Amino acid sequence: MASRTVRAEARAPQRPPAAAAGRRVTALFVGVFALALVAAARPALAALRVVATTPDVADLTRQIGGDRVEVETLAGGDQDPHRVPVKPSFVTKLNRADALVVQGLGLEHAFLPALLEASRNPAISPGQPAYVDASLYVEPLEVPTSLSREQGELHPLGNPHFNLDPVEGGKMARAIAEGLERADPAGAETYRQGLARFSSALDARIAEWQRRAEPLRGRKVISSHLDLPYLARRFGFEVIGTLEYKPGVPATPAHLEGLIALGQREHVDLVVHEVYFDEALARSVAARLGVPVATVSVMTGGLPGASGYLAFVDANLDALLAAVAAGRQAPQ
Ligand SMILES: [Zn+2]
Repeated sequence: MASRTVRAEARAPQRPPAAAAGRRVTALFVGVFALALVAAARPALAALRVVATTPDVADLTRQIGGDRVEVETLAGGDQDPHRVPVKPSFVTKLNRADALVVQGLGLEHAFLPALLEASRNPAISPGQPAYVDASLYVEPLEVPTSLSREQGELHPLGNPHFNLDPVEGGKMARAIAEGLERADPAGAETYRQGLARFSSALDARIAEWQRRAEPLRGRKVISSHLDLPYLARRFGFEVIGTLEYKPGVPATPAHLEGLIALGQREHVDLVVHEVYFDEALARSVAARLGVPVATVSVMTGGLPGASGYLAFVDANLDALLAAVAAGRQAPQ
């Protein structure tokens, strides 16, 4: 319709009278209104508008939902997932969303509740069918035994970094597929097929990763933040300490001296630098211990060239294996 209007104008020798222009505008409105009615009568054609808090749950949602979903992501892969810088546009996205997918287990607790409050979209609040919690089937590690916030302020419900372990990633995919089906029952078949396709691709990669990860078995690691326990359990290495005093609590000089002494005593193999963290600190501790540094990402897309969830797991494993292969140097 629009192109016909343009061609008609091109043929008109002079500027059309105001009345004719008015008729065209009216016709345009009627046309747009008719299209809107058609769209409303056929909701299956409109994509489900999904907001995903992290790039990990965003990628899994796309893999499962395909064209049936339109996904917007709040966090960037190289950001601190606990402290995502909030933008006003997040409120608009949440306000318009048909479903919300979160990683869960408290990962987003510092920024999401206030955003949900401001977005005035009760359909996506916790407990509603369109609130999709990817942590549903995860058995959390490091659950605090009291309400004392003994693990710091950032991990109140246990360790929320299960996404680094691809087996946990498979559980996330299942929870997301079921949540999408809840939010959009008409798409059940799409989501079930999407989950089956993704799960078989993931399982094939997990078998390959398990074989490749063999050199990590028994290694001792110091990480910046306490985000490796699930990955360490999967690939058989051990996290003996963190540069942070506690999750979200920066190191003190006394903590770092104690950590270096521990690393020497335990013959630590490498220091892990998470991409959003203080790299100079990781490198200086590694230099004191005479061990290599591996830079890993805690979310999909955090390392260059690793844009999807499978590439994220792959890139982290590559980084750890490269550091182990580099081996120890003389301490400085
Ligand atoms: Zn954390």
